[in-house]
Order: sequence, then structure tokens, then C-alpha cells
Amino acid sequence: MNAPIRVTNNLEAFWMPFTANRQFKSNPRMFVAAKDMHYTTADGRQVLDGTAGLWCCNAGHGRPKITEAIQKQAAELDYAPAFQMGHPAAFELASRLVQLTPQGIDHVFFANSGSEAVDSALKIALAYHRARGEGQRFRLIGRERGYHGVGFGGISVGGIVSNRKMFGTLLTGVDHIRHTHDLTRNAFSRGLPEHGAEYAEDLERVIALHDPSTIAAVIIEPIAGSTGVLLPPKGYLERIRAICDKHGILLIFDEVITGFGRLGAPFAADYFGVTPDMMTVAKGITSGVIPMGAVFAKKEIYDAFMTGPEHLIELFHGYTYSANPVACAAALGTLDTYAEEGLLTRAADLASYWEDAVHSLKGLPHVIDIRNLGLIGAIELEPIAGQPTKRAFSAFLKAYEKGLLIRTTGDIIALSPPLIISKAQIDELVTTLGDVLKTLD
Ligand code: PMP
Repeated sequence: MNAPIRVTNNLEAFWMPFTANRQFKSNPRMFVAAKDMHYTTADGRQVLDGTAGLWCCNAGHGRPKITEAIQKQAAELDYAPAFQMGHPAAFELASRLVQLTPQGIDHVFFANSGSEAVDSALKIALAYHRARGEGQRFRLIGRERGYHGVGFGGISVGGIVSNRKMFGTLLTGVDHIRHTHDLTRNAFSRGLPEHGAEYAEDLERVIALHDPSTIAAVIIEPIAGSTGVLLPPKGYLERIRAICDKHGILLIFDEVITGFGRLGAPFAADYFGVTPDMMTVAKGITSGVIPMGAVFAKKEIYDAFMTGPEHLIELFHGYTYSANPVACAAALGTLDTYAEEGLLTRAADLASYWEDAVHSLKGLPHVIDIRNLGLIGAIELEPIAGQPTKRAFSAFLKAYEKGLLIRTTGDIIALSPPLIISKAQIDELVTTLGDVLKTLD
């Protein structure tokens, strides 16, 4: 039996994240249920999920293994501290996760979101160097158009002006290299762009500007997702890895979006064959159902604390909800679902079908680029002078009316459906989006 749907007329009390309440109020869009590939709206319509929620519901919605695991754990052990105490699900989950991570990445620190995972990784990087007697390594390097969540660490290393400019001085000792998005050479690339590996040399330039021995870590998204699906040119990530190695700098991959099967491999690190020193994950770790984030770290990093001097044997960092039992159960149920249904490699099977499907939108009005990798796609629209985000946002509203959830950032439409999507649903997604694009002014 369905529970009654709760509806309220007060659309002000909830201060919505990254949303203008004023605009939302004039046209509220509400989901009240979700199953597999679809949301149900408050007015009873089915909406195809073209974005896995916010890049997170990789296993789709309402998956029984996940909900059952959560119910069972909440009834059995709802909460236990992880400071000086433990519970079995935390250790089991960490062991299961390190079986999935690239070789050499053997330790898991739990947080509750991507933002917390990022800030944790940055702090671990700084503390690691200090533990090894290299406390002069305090600088962090990110990228323009990088998105690393909304904590102070994340917005400092991140490269989105609007997310930074309201909030004062941010962290000091942070530098940025350029992003690699280059439509003059790479428009309508299929898969990885051919041109632009040389953007990695920016890192050498920024390092040369400082004393290299002052740099603690470089953080990058293997694919910048939130800023519009910016794919790394062939050879770029390998070059970044080599430069970090040359100077003893830690490399952090922010895999909050690319982790857990989005590219057809467990992680982007596997897909690209480039192993960072730490990885940050969230979203797909619980298929979005319960908040959870994590930092995966190499043994050398963990060992610096475990075998350091007496005053350094613990990391002075953690959250009340680190390794929350119900979140751990959700993650275990999610990993079971991924394993049973082969979801961590399913994007590889669908990738060429998906690529052809999204590229079939080429030639429609205002489309200036289409890009794809794994089960990620993006359609970039020509900006309207003076109104930079109007056209894509109008596509978002029209798609929603036609029963399709897409995500937009600036003039870019981003697609990242749950990994359970069928070929027929890919066709439906692209047909609906094509119909929408044809109506844009
Ligand atoms: N890093 C990346 C790469 C992300 O895409 C996101 C979220 N989109 C975050 C960090 C922040 O995650 P959260 O919203 O869970 O804090």
C-alpha cells in the first residue's frame, strides 16, 4: 500500500541548495516516488531519470537489496560511534571497498558527502607530509572549472567563480591550473579528445613558480562533471601523474562522479590506468540512498600515521557520522546490487550504443558540441548574448514537462543515467531531448 503523499503550500521554509526559491515557487517541480529508471511527480507523471538523481543513483531507484539492508541495520544497530569504537559493518565495508580499488590503495576513511571527502583528503595530504617531516609542503593545486564540493577546502581548490566569490579569502596557498576544455580543436569528439595533453604542462609551470618542495597535493576530477563534462585529452592524466611523481607531490583524483561504474570500470583510475595516491568518492557508494563519502588512500599514506612518532599515531579528524552503521549497510547493499547485476562494467557494454545515441543530436539547432564517455554525455549549446544560461535551463524545463530529467550547467546539458538503463530507454531519452532541442529559441 502506498503511503499518503505529503504536500505543503509553504515553499519558503526550506531554503533550497543551489536554487532560487523565488523562481522555484512560481513553477514547483516535486518528485514523490521513484522506481528503477523513473521518478513519479506530484501530479502523477513518470519522469525518466537521465541524470541518476545528481549523478548518484547508479543502481537506479527503489532497489530491494539496498532498502532491505537499511531497514535491517536500522532495526539492529542504528548508530554507533566510530571514535574509539567500532561495529562490524564499517570494517566489512572498508574491506569490500579495497577489493575494488586499484592495487596499492588499501585504506578507507569515511565521511558523509563528497564535500567532506574532499576536505578530508586535503587535510590528510597536509598531515601526511607533516608526519613525514615535510611540513613545509602546504600548497594545494586544483584546476579552473574544477568542482570539489562546497566545504572551504573544496571551494578553495575548486575553480567555479560563483561558488567562491561570496565567501571571502578561502584557503591560502592554493593555485590553479587551466582546464582542458578546448572546442576549437576538440568539438564533437567521440570519447577522449585527441588534442590538449599539453595542458598538463601548466602544472610544471605552476610548480616552477613556487619552490616545488612546498607543494603538498594536486586535486583533479578525472572528468570534470558538474562544470559540464570536460573530458581529459588523451595522455593528459598520465602526464599529470608523472609530474606529481617527479616532485614528490600527492595526486588526488576526485572520483565523486566517476566512481562506481560510471565509465564501465569501478573507478576512472581503472579506466585510465592511472593510479592516484588518494581518491575521493561519494554518491554511487550508496547509490545515493544514504549520505556517505570516503577517501581511499595508499598504504604509504596510512602508514605515515600508523608508524609515526607517538604524538602522530592518530589522524585528528573525523565526523560523528563517519561510518554510520545504516550508511555502511546501504553501501554494502549497493555493492551487492552492483556485483549481482554486473553494473560496475555495464557502462562499458553500453558505451558505443550510448555514444551513437547522443551524437545523433548533432546538427540540431544551437548545438555546438557533443561529448561522451562511458555512460556520461554532454550537449553544449550556443550561448545567447547577455543571457548565458537561459537556453539550457529552458531545455531542462521543457524536458521535465516531456517526462525527462536532465541536468544543466551554464550552456551545457549533462546526461548520466542510472547504469541499469536499457537501450530502449536510451533511445527514448535521446528522442525526447531531440524534440526539446528542436523547440529552443
Ligand atoms: N566532488 C565532485 C567531483 C562532485 O561532483 C561533487 C558533487 N557533485 C562533490 C565533490 C561534492 O559532493 P557533495 O555534494 O556530496 O558534497
